[in-house]
Amino acid sequence: MKKKLKVGIVLICCMFLFTTVAFAKYLNYGWPTSNVPIRPYNHNSTWQRALDNGMASWNGAGAKVSFNKVSGSNNPVYVANYSYGAYGKCIIYYSGNKITRFTIEMNNRTISRDATNFSNFIQSVFVHELGHTIWLADNPRTSQPSIMKYSRNRNTMTRPQTFDINNVRAKY
Ligand SMILES: [Zn+2]
Repeated sequence: MKKKLKVGIVLICCMFLFTTVAFAKYLNYGWPTSNVPIRPYNHNSTWQRALDNGMASWNGAGAKVSFNKVSGSNNPVYVANYSYGAYGKCIIYYSGNKITRFTIEMNNRTISRDATNFSNFIQSVFVHELGHTIWLADNPRTSQPSIMKYSRNRNTMTRPQTFDINNVRAKY
C-alpha cells in the first residue's frame, strides 16, 4: 500500500513568553535514529564550550540518544545576532514523522542581553533546541521540571531533566 507522506518545514520558535501556554509533550516528528549527526561548528571558545557541553549533557543523560559531530552533516548550528526575540530557533524539515534535516540558530543578541550566567544560558537554550530534534515539544503540560519549559531558569538549568529523558527514551 502506498503511504502518503507529509512533507514540510516547521519553524519552532523558542521565545520567552509571558503567557503560560502548555502543549503536548511530543512533536509529530523526530530524528529517525538514536544517533543524531551535527555539522561541526566553530565559534569562540565560550560558545564552543557551552555548545559542546550541551551535546554532552544529552549524551550522558541516559536518554538512549547521542549527538555527534559529523562533517558534511546537513544539521548545522549557527550563532549570530538575530533581530528576532527568541533565544534560539530550530528549523525542522520533515517527511512523514521523520526529520530529514534541521538547522539550529542561537541568538547571541538576546542571550547576551538576558543572561546572568552566560555559559549556562547558552547551554540551556541549546539543550532545549536539541530536544526538538528528538521529538520534544515546547512547554509540555507537566508539573515536573523540564528543559522544554519556557519558565525554566536558563541560568541554572543546563541539562535535560528526568521528565525529558524519559520522554526521549520512550521514542528510541
Ligand atoms: Zn522550543
